[in-house]
This record gives sequence, C-alpha cells and structure tokens, in this order.
Amino acid sequence: MKTGYNIAIDGPAGAGKSTIAKKIAKKMNFIYVDTGAMYRAMALYLLRKGIDPADADRIAEVCQEADISIEYQNGEQVVLLNGENVNAYIRTEEIGSMASCSSAVPAVREKLVELQRRLAAKADVVMDGRDIGTVVLPDADVKVYLTAGSATRAKRRYLELLEKGEKPDLAQIEQKIIDRDYQDMHREHSPLRQAEDAVLVDSSDMTIDEVVERISSLCR
Ligand code: C5P
Repeated sequence: MKTGYNIAIDGPAGAGKSTIAKKIAKKMNFIYVDTGAMYRAMALYLLRKGIDPADADRIAEVCQEADISIEYQNGEQVVLLNGENVNAYIRTEEIGSMASCSSAVPAVREKLVELQRRLAAKADVVMDGRDIGTVVLPDADVKVYLTAGSATRAKRRYLELLEKGEKPDLAQIEQKIIDRDYQDMHREHSPLRQAEDAVLVDSSDMTIDEVVERISSLCR
C-alpha cells in the first residue's frame, strides 16, 4: 500500500538525475533513492565473479546470490552488497556498462524492483532511474523525464572526471553515453522511455537550481 509521496525521475545517462534528485530530497525532506546504484552493485558482484556480460542465463542464476540492501548514513544512501558497503566501487564506467547489460535480465530487475517498491511504500521518496515512472512507481505523484543533449551530458561527465584528477577523453565519453542509452532504450524489459504522464524537462540550457525549481513547482 502506498502511503508516502513519490517523485519519479527517469532519463538517460548523465542527465543530472542524481544531482537534482538529491537537492529536491534535501529541500523537501524526502529520502533519495538512487536505483542506478543498486544495478551497479549487482554489476559489481557479477564482475567480481567473472561473469560474461552477454551471458544472460548465468546472470539470472548468479544474481540470486547477491543480497542488495540500502541504508542511510548521515542522509547519504549506502548500498550494501552482501553486507559490504560498495559505494566506493560502483561509480566507474566499467560498472556502468556491466549494469546496462545485467539490468536487461528480468531476474535482476525483479529482485531490485521489489526492493525499490518497498522503500517507496513506507516513506516520502524521490527515486531516480530508467523505469521508475513507467514500471516501479506507476502511481507516483509527480513524474519527470529529465534529459539533455548527449554533447551536454558528455561535457558534464568530462568536467566531473577532470575535477577528480582523471584525464578523460570527451569524444569517448559521449560515445559510451550514446551506446549505453541505446542499450537501455532498446531492451525488451522495462526499457527507458518517458511515461505518458511524465513531464519532460530538458536541462541542456538550464542551471541545476532552475531544474530543481521546475520540479519543485510540479510538486506544489
Ligand atoms: O543511473 P546509472 O547510470 O547509475 O544506472 C546504471 C545502469 O543501470 C543504467 O545504464 C541502466 O542500464 C540500469 N538502470 C536500470 N533501471 C533503473 C536504474 C538503472 O535499468 N531504474
């Protein structure tokens, strides 16, 4: 049974979903649920086991051994993989690509969607991902499809990596974003698409604060 207020934010890679969702959660005193992090934790488990990203049968089998849960420490979401805090290991491009492959496997989705629905049922949440408005929380109070052009999204990732002291390649980042989106949009189960009742927000020419304000105004 749904008791909390639910805000669903979906969109392609690098659209700023997590940055925006975190700010909205803080502003409205909601819990932020980053569903991508759950798929990433599962991908980490599979990579550690040496599973081939193309082997859907093995993924369906091995994913059953991974217990993924969420805790909140000082307002931050911590993803636990069989009890281990894996937050520090899941933000790489390698994990993102594996997550995009393994998230297409129904057994992986079933496990994680159940966890996501349980979190949303008992609290006011801002949840971001690919299928939140379409599949996970079809009755969400507010649904947003947040996007931006691939060049803008690649540039944002590039600047983030530069800031971390890495030496990123802009063209390569954009290509990886395009490939991952294509895969996420064209899979058979729960593909990334805008829900019919979602509001489209294109953040290409908007500041973070403008996007937060736009979404906040939809909640009023
Ligand atoms: O959002 P993030 O980049 O962390 O997501 C990593 C991958 O996890 C996505 O490319 C997508 O394949 C998968 N994902 C998903 N459904 C969600 C959230 C993420 O399939 N709700």
